[in-house]
Amino acid sequence: NYIKNIAILGSTGSIGTQTLEVIRNNANLFRAFLITAHSNADLLINQALEFKPEYAIICDESKYPEVKAALAHLPVKVLAGHQAIVDTVTHPDIAIVLTAMVGFAGLEPTVAAIKAGKDIALANKETLVVAGELITGLAKQHDIKILPVDSEHSAIFQCLAGEETNRIEKIILTASGGPFRGRDLDFLADVTREDALKHPNWIMGAKITIDSASLMNKGLEVIEAKWLFDINPDQIEVIVHPQSIIHSMVQFSDGSIKAQMGLPDMKLPIQYALAYPNRIQNNYKRFTFTDYPNLTFEKPDLDTFRNLSLAFAALKQGGNMPCIINAANEIAVAGFLNRSISFLAMSNVIEECMQQINYVAQPTLTDYLNTDKETRIFAQNLIQQLPLKAIQ
Ligand code: NDP
Ligand code: MG
Repeated sequence: NYIKNIAILGSTGSIGTQTLEVIRNNANLFRAFLITAHSNADLLINQALEFKPEYAIICDESKYPEVKAALAHLPVKVLAGHQAIVDTVTHPDIAIVLTAMVGFAGLEPTVAAIKAGKDIALANKETLVVAGELITGLAKQHDIKILPVDSEHSAIFQCLAGEETNRIEKIILTASGGPFRGRDLDFLADVTREDALKHPNWIMGAKITIDSASLMNKGLEVIEAKWLFDINPDQIEVIVHPQSIIHSMVQFSDGSIKAQMGLPDMKLPIQYALAYPNRIQNNYKRFTFTDYPNLTFEKPDLDTFRNLSLAFAALKQGGNMPCIINAANEIAVAGFLNRSISFLAMSNVIEECMQQINYVAQPTLTDYLNTDKETRIFAQNLIQQLPLKAIQ
């Protein structure tokens, strides 16, 4: 009986814990082989006690002694630091690497895993946003699969089963619209982190929840879709669908549209990616059409939610521009979360970085690392210097 060994990068997060739930429910199919946390030692320890992985890695080295001591009685190898993740994802026994860490930190481990021939179950969309061309090139070269975990991209991937990709006319990415759907700039000027952290349909990590409120998440997903499905930016349409039941659609060259639907539950795309090309039976709650007599659709408001336009612009400019918007956005979101800048100022920080950071048309991995570092420093300085209205 063949059990797939899974490496879960970011096992203590929203996607990470749901991945472990899928593994717990399917212990005959999957094993958590490697788990990692940034600094949440307590949860990492508890996960290691339950799942008995081969490796548990804590990025924050100051927490190493604590994790090591708590797991000393088990045959779990405990390591610390970002480099330990990069080195260990290449282990020959790993079948799939599920990338569920947040932000740019996912790039290097993903590159290492692909080079070692691992299939990637990709939740960490920032990796494809930053370096889509590099990652998809490496994936081809090493003949590995990138299986989307993001619900929209999993939907598209499922719609494409049995289809020719050159028959895609367009991809219709659905967006919930977030907690501020229908609001205007006046309203957004004063929203707080607490307002922005209330997502109507999904419970997720803080960074992606803010990205959902600003529609940057949809912008990042447009870029992610471009690279995953090898299509042009003008073949991607974003449509607001507040109920989050249709997870996305594909329109083919004969005009026919396929949609993938279901209740919002990340365990479904996670298990689809891990079990691909198989489907696993489960008992999760089913969708009932008559419970949702009104599935509705609207155009996104690009003037109010400027991040989405900025992401489209960055995708069209190419080169290191998506890397710039990603880094600027990570700093802007952190600034909003720690109340240094207002909600709307996030777009100003991103736009300023797009204008000021050196453009590189054909970036290498080193260029991406440099652009990321440079943009973070620049954006951090902006937040400290510019009179971007702080709130509360
Ligand atoms: P969370 O913030 O809940 O979890 C992030 C995980 O990554 C945690 O395990 C965290 O460790 C770890 N981590 C954070 N920063 C670093 C770092 N610098 N280096 C290494 N590890 C780090 O995020 P989510 O689970 O919500 O999101 C993870 C990724 O999945 C993101 O890229 C997001 O865009 C994507 N995604 C998430 C969805 C969701 O429903 N949540 C849906 C679609 C995509 P610790 O706990 O110790 O801080
Ligand atoms: Mg998504």
